[in-house]
Amino acid sequence: MIERQGNKYELQCDYCSNYIDDFEDFQEAVDYKKANNWKSISINGEWTDKCSNCINEG
Ligand SMILES: [Zn+2]
Repeated sequence: MIERQGNKYELQCDYCSNYIDDFEDFQEAVDYKKANNWKSISINGEWTDKCSNCINEG
């Protein structure tokens, strides 16, 4: 998920505790996901974010 934390945005994997909390805006976090092979996965209509480590583990 991408969450606003004060005036920064935090990208957190919904499958492990991996996170990056240093984004200036939402789009920067989205770009990071694309550049680092994160995937957005819809589960029961809720969007979750899966980091590349978790994808590699299946
Ligand atoms: Zn993960």
